[in-house]
Amino acid sequence: MNDYITGITAGGAAWTPVFVQDINQTRCIGCGRCFKVCPRDVFDLVDRSDVLSEDDIDDYDDLEEDNAQVMRIAHGNDCIGCSACSRVCPKNCFTHAPLPLAA
Ligand code: SF4
Ligand code: SF4
Repeated sequence: MNDYITGITAGGAAWTPVFVQDINQTRCIGCGRCFKVCPRDVFDLVDRSDVLSEDDIDDYDDLEEDNAQVMRIAHGNDCIGCSACSRVCPKNCFTHAPLPLAA
C-alpha cells in the first residue's frame, strides 16, 4: 500500500507528486527560472535582505554576493508537485517531499 498521495499519467501509470518544501536562499541567484516554469504561481522574487539577516549573510561563504534578490515560496499550498522548478534550477536550491495520505 502506498503511503503518499499519487496521481495518474495520461497513459494510466501511477506517479507520486513531490511538493515544494524549501528554497535554499543562500544558494539562490535570483535567476527567475523557477518563477517562469511554475504552472501555479507559487513563487515570488524578493530582496535578499528581506529574508536573510546580515548575520545569515555573513555566515555563508558560498553566498552569491553580487545578487540582491532571491526567490521565496509565496503560495506553497498551490503547488501540484510537478518538480519542474527543481529541474530548471541551476543551483540545486529546492527541497521537495511527497504528501502523506491522511490518517
Ligand atoms: S513543484 Fe511544480 S507547482 Fe510546485 S512549486 Fe515547483 S514548479 Fe510550481
Ligand atoms: S531557479 Fe534556483 S537559482 Fe534561479 S531563482 Fe529559482 S531557486 Fe533561485
